[in-house]
Amino acid sequence: MNLKEIGEFGFIERFKPLFQNLNQNNQIGIGDDCAIIPVGNNKEWVISTDMLIEEVHFLRSSISPYQLGYKSLAVNLSDIASMGAKPIASFLSIAIPTHIEVDYLDEFIKGYHDLSTKYNTPLLGGDTTKSLQNLAINVTVIGECAKGEARKRSDAQVNDIICTTGPLGDSAAGLQTILQKINSSENNRHLVNKHLQPEPQINEGLFLKTYSAIHAMMDISDGIASDLKHILKASRKSATIDIASLPISDVLTNEAQKQHWNATELALSGGEDYELLLTMAPESYERISKAFEEKFGKKLHCIGSIDEGEPEIKYTQNGESIEIHSSGFNHFKS
Ligand code: ADP
Ligand code: MG
Repeated sequence: MNLKEIGEFGFIERFKPLFQNLNQNNQIGIGDDCAIIPVGNNKEWVISTDMLIEEVHFLRSSISPYQLGYKSLAVNLSDIASMGAKPIASFLSIAIPTHIEVDYLDEFIKGYHDLSTKYNTPLLGGDTTKSLQNLAINVTVIGECAKGEARKRSDAQVNDIICTTGPLGDSAAGLQTILQKINSSENNRHLVNKHLQPEPQINEGLFLKTYSAIHAMMDISDGIASDLKHILKASRKSATIDIASLPISDVLTNEAQKQHWNATELALSGGEDYELLLTMAPESYERISKAFEEKFGKKLHCIGSIDEGEPEIKYTQNGESIEIHSSGFNHFKS
C-alpha cells in the first residue's frame, strides 16, 4: 500500500492503538494538539512537537532566518495556546547543512529568542547536528495548566457554536503570493507576513479557558475544513458551517479580487492561519465575545454550530444547503 492512499492521519491511526494501553497515570496521548501529562495533584503539563523541513514547509529563499526562527517556535506555541495552557519551556533540535553562514543561524536564534521573550518561554535544551542537504527544525514545547482545565478536541457539545479568534485564509493567500511570485504591494506584504511570521494565540487561549462555556479548542494549522473534522471525530458530532460567516479580512477580499482567487476556498482549506477554533455554549456567546473584544480589540467570529450526527461538515449559505468539497492540507495526500 502506498502512503498516499491513507495520508498522514491514516498512518497515525495505524499505530495509535498500539501505544494507548501503555499510557500511565491518566496520560492522554496521540490525537490532540498536545499530549496531557498529570503532574502532582493539581496540575497538568501539555506537550507538543512539530517539525519544519526546508522545501516541504518553507523555502529558504522566501523566508528570512529571523522569521524562520520566530515561526518555528510560533507553530509549536500555537498548540499550547489551543489547550488554553501557559508555555513554560521549549526544546530546539536543528539539522544544519554545512554551508550555512553563522550570521544566518544568529538571525534564526534572534527570531526564536524574541518570541520566547514575548511569552516568557525559556529554551531549555535541544540537539544540533549536520544535515547533508536541507535545513530541518524540530521544536518541542511544554505548557502548564490546572488539572482538568486543558481544552480538548473531544469536548464539543451539541448546539455549541463554532468560533475562530481571527480571519481565515490570509496565510494561504500569502503563500500563493510567494509561489506565484506576485509583485510586492502593501496588501500582499500583509498576507505574506501572516504566512511567514504567524502569531500564536497564547493570551487568547489563556483568556478563553477561564470560561467553562468554552468547550473544545484546537489551532488552525491545516485549514478549518480539515481541522474542524478532528474536533468532530474526537467529539463524535457533526457541524454546520455558514459560508457567509467565514471571517475574511478586507486585505484578502481585495487581493483575491485582483488575483482572481476564491477567498472562500482559501479560508476553508488554506492552512497555517494559527488562529484558534473553538466551540462554546450558545447562551454565553454574547457575554464572552464582548469581553474578548474589550480585551483584545478584535472579534470572536461565529461561523457555525455543532450538531448531532456523523463527523461531517454541512455547509449553508443564506440558510440554503450547499455542496463544498474542501479538504484542507494533508501530507502525502496533497
Ligand atoms: P498538530 O497539527 O496539532 O501539530 P498533527 O496533525 O501534526 O497535530 O498530529 C495529530 C496528532 O498525531 C497529534 O496528537 C500528534 O502528537 C500525533 N502524531 C503525529 N505524528 C506522530 C508520530 N510520528 N508519532 C506519534 N504521534 C504522532
Ligand atoms: Mg494543532
